[in-house]
Amino acid sequence: MLEVCNLYKSYGTLEVLKGINFSAQKGETLTIMGPSGCGKSTTIRCINRLTEPDSGHIIYKGKDILRLHKPELLKIRQDIGFVFQGFNLINRLTVFDNIMLALMKQDLSKEEVKKRVRKSLDQVHLRDFADSYPQDLSGGQKQRVGIARSLALKSSLMLLDEPTAALDPILVREVLEVLESITSTQDKSIIIVTHEIDFAYKVSDRILLMDQGRIVERGDPEKVFTEPTSKIGKKYKELFE
Ligand code: ATP
Ligand code: MG
Repeated sequence: MLEVCNLYKSYGTLEVLKGINFSAQKGETLTIMGPSGCGKSTTIRCINRLTEPDSGHIIYKGKDILRLHKPELLKIRQDIGFVFQGFNLINRLTVFDNIMLALMKQDLSKEEVKKRVRKSLDQVHLRDFADSYPQDLSGGQKQRVGIARSLALKSSLMLLDEPTAALDPILVREVLEVLESITSTQDKSIIIVTHEIDFAYKVSDRILLMDQGRIVERGDPEKVFTEPTSKIGKKYKELFE
């Protein structure tokens, strides 16, 4: 489904990614964890080329995303949902229209678009907020709109970069609950960057733990959190206990 091979990225003399390798299978939830600055966002942003890596391959559905020209890249991005830490909603558009906008580039009938928007709002429990404007929503609700927008694409791959980082603890819980139900009911591949250890333990099929531009632990949550071999893995084990 997705294969990331030998990803390297530097900013000037700062080597941020030093050979990242992993794959994600269909339906799998993969969580990327690790200390601030270790390269998690850079990794996830390279997948849809919001950040251009220096070298490597990203094979998605048989094509190397890093070798695609712009039109093909734009097309494939329609098949990759991306949820940011900030919400990236357009304030002068309603919730409904914000989600609809994401579907404009797809060749869908008006009816199908409306159906998808409504369904995605149901999935994040925001059915009654379709006509609200972003400024009237809480941070958790805004983030759920972001998630709905990504769901509406019906993409087979969904990337989430710290979807709860900008939220207070109560709102964090509400967003995590929505994400938990998505990871357990959808057959899309989901890659989440998060610092929420308990959540990661619960929803992940596999965890990748990064440190200084490398993956230092990988495996199912039980293995990563109970039998770590790296220095940073041992620190996470203490946090988890
Ligand atoms: P956090 O948990 O704080 O979000 P992260 O693991 O996501 O951290 P990245 O955002 O991938 O870390 O950044 C990795 C390193 O690359 C950091 O040292 C960061 O300062 C640097 N970096 C990221 N983007 C840029 C950029 N556009 N220009 C220069 N340096 C950058
Ligand atoms: Mg980050």
